Amino acid sequence: MTAERTAADAFALLSDESRVEIIRAIAIAHSEQEPSNSGPAPLSFSEVYERVGVDNTSKLSYHLGELTGTYLRKREGGYSFTHAGDRIARFILAENFRRPADVGPIETDGSCPYCGETTLEAGVDDQYFAVRCSACDRPVTGYTITPAQTRARSGNTLLEVRLFPGDTTKMGTLPTSGLRQK
Ligand SMILES: [Zn+2]
Repeated sequence: MTAERTAADAFALLSDESRVEIIRAIAIAHSEQEPSNSGPAPLSFSEVYERVGVDNTSKLSYHLGELTGTYLRKREGGYSFTHAGDRIARFILAENFRRPADVGPIETDGSCPYCGETTLEAGVDDQYFAVRCSACDRPVTGYTITPAQTRARSGNTLLEVRLFPGDTTKMGTLPTSGLRQK
């Protein structure tokens, strides 16, 4: 009898920088593809090899073998993510293991819905990118932000964020409830 795989077993498979790099490389390759109704196209062995810094093909073959079944599925044509692989790829791309960069304050257009002053400022506060009114110190709008987003984007582009294909979160489209109050 085979013991049921545990979460700790699944995480143990990732305690290797090359395997994390493979997942990151496949995720980035998928994000560069044209969106398709049938989902991202699998990556061939040689496409993965071109994108990672693994020394030789036998090492890559070994690591792909370890990841296949839990994070990757192998089909004719190459490798694609399992559901778990997709989730862990998002975690890796979001850099949720790092601290967010300091961003802001950025002067922002618009007027405060509470006091009417045009003194809105945007900035990163822990895991939120938020617009606050500096006159009455109330939060006006915002959204949760990943550490990768705080690094990869200039302050002004944080006002229109789209990290993954399909995410359409934009400033101004979110309800003001749900923002963290000071
Ligand atoms: Zn105000």
